[in-house]
Amino acid sequence: MVGEVIAASGVSFKYAPDEADVLSNISFAIEQGEWIAMIGPNGSGKSTLAKIMNGLLAPHSGTIQVKGETLNEETVWNVRQSVGMVFQNPDNQFVGATVEDDVAFGMENLGVPRPEMIERVEHALEEVNMQAYKQHEPAKLSGGQKQRVALAGIIALRPDVIIMDEATAMLDPMGRYEVIEAIERLKERYNLTVISITHDLDEAAEADRIFVMNQGQLVKIAPPEEIFLMGEELMGMGLDVPFSQKLQKALSTRGFAVPETYLDEEDLLQWLS
Ligand code: ADP
Repeated sequence: MVGEVIAASGVSFKYAPDEADVLSNISFAIEQGEWIAMIGPNGSGKSTLAKIMNGLLAPHSGTIQVKGETLNEETVWNVRQSVGMVFQNPDNQFVGATVEDDVAFGMENLGVPRPEMIERVEHALEEVNMQAYKQHEPAKLSGGQKQRVALAGIIALRPDVIIMDEATAMLDPMGRYEVIEAIERLKERYNLTVISITHDLDEAAEADRIFVMNQGQLVKIAPPEEIFLMGEELMGMGLDVPFSQKLQKALSTRGFAVPETYLDEEDLLQWLS
């Protein structure tokens, strides 16, 4: 870890002046290289917060800092380059007629010289294992391939943070696996910070920390083992808990002396044997 890469301080937001806050008083700091899973019921403000973090929306109060720089109208283009976003619907994020055009698009906007652009496209596609599809039409790819091309477009801009807004939610298990695997590899290689909004608790269990959003507030920040011990509280918010946690609880209420600490699936199987 090499210090804070993105931080929020007292961030509040509403979509219309006469409406209630959609986000209220959000504060956090995320270290370079961390994997954050953001969970919370639908409508709790996760996507809105993601868009604020990369400058697509501006908070009405509070500040976002990216690498120590305050996000504002002047810094927003730097921030967009530094904080990339992959959205849920793979079909809504393509602009190029071919995969390579698409990956190059962000760099064209930044005025990256052509020879460097070609090299970066090549490299980024290799990183997500899509180099064989350079000339393909994005629309004809599978969901997982589309999301990996979207990732390549971000990687080519050399970001510090990648925000995934339910980026695997519309994919089949294979596509989901491919995207998560690509992200893990990239994270490892570049010490990237990953913020993943997800309903997949098995994925969230792998994160360094989990942010729990509820009704526009960041109600809890803690490592997965602590979050999943909040079983009933999470369910009260309409959130699920991992199967291992339910089983652990069920065993405990039936008189088994299960440890009170959080056990993931592997730990629980070991304890059961
Ligand atoms: P989540 O990602 O947790 O599902 P969102 O950030 O999408 O939550 O939404 C938070 C709240 O803001 C919801 O009440 C939603 O209806 C509202 N909202 C989201 N997008 C818009 C928009 N473009 N205009 C007005 N209200 C919106």
